[in-house]
Amino acid sequence: MAFFKKNNTPPSCNVCGSSMQQWIESERKKYCSDTCLKTSYPKCCICNIPMKQWTESERKKYCSDACLKTSYPKCCICSTQMKQWSTSNGKKYCSKACFQTTWPTCKVCHVKMNKWVESGNYKYCSDTCYEATWPKCKICKEKMNKWFIVNDNKYCSDKCILTQNTHEVLANKIQEELAAENYIELNLLS
Ligand SMILES: [Zn+2]
Ligand SMILES: [Zn+2]
Ligand SMILES: [Zn+2]
Ligand SMILES: [Zn+2]
Ligand SMILES: [Zn+2]
Repeated sequence: MAFFKKNNTPPSCNVCGSSMQQWIESERKKYCSDTCLKTSYPKCCICNIPMKQWTESERKKYCSDACLKTSYPKCCICSTQMKQWSTSNGKKYCSKACFQTTWPTCKVCHVKMNKWVESGNYKYCSDTCYEATWPKCKICKEKMNKWFIVNDNKYCSDKCILTQNTHEVLANKIQEELAAENYIELNLLS
C-alpha cells in the first residue's frame, strides 16, 4: 500500500487496463467492473459462458446440467445421453433393451439370443429350433442331422433307401407292363 501512496498511481484493471479509483478484487486481482471481473471467470467448456459457479466433471467445467449432459456419451443404439451405461465390445448401451438389439436372432423362432447353437451360417436359440431345420427322411419322415441322398431324395438309412427303391422298381415295372400289354389290368388284379 505504501507503493500506491508514494506514486499516487491508481491500479489498473486486470482485464481492460483502465485506471481505477475503485475496484473489485477477486483472487488477488483487481477489476474495474463486473463485466471485467466476469471475463476472468472460467468459461463453460460447452457454451463458453463465464461462470461464478460450475459443475466439474472429468476436469472440465460446465455451467449447467444441460451443458454437462451434452458431454455424456450417447447410447450407440438409441442415441440417448447417458449418465450411466454398460459397455460391450467398446460400445456403450443405455439399457439392456438397447444392448439386446445387437444380439443375433434365432433363424427359426426369431427370438433374440445371447447364447446359441450355430450350424452352417445360421444361429439357433435351442436344439429344438435347430432340429426343426433338419430334413425329414423321404420314407419314414424322421428328422435327420445326417442322411443319404439318392436321386435328390434324402433318406435316414439304408433300410429307407431300399424301401424307396422297391417302390420305384415296382412302379417302373407296372409302368412298363401298362405300356406293353393290353391285358395288364387282369394281371394286376390277379
Ligand atoms: Zn476493466
Ligand atoms: Zn454452459
Ligand atoms: Zn439406448
Ligand atoms: Zn428359436
Ligand atoms: Zn427313414
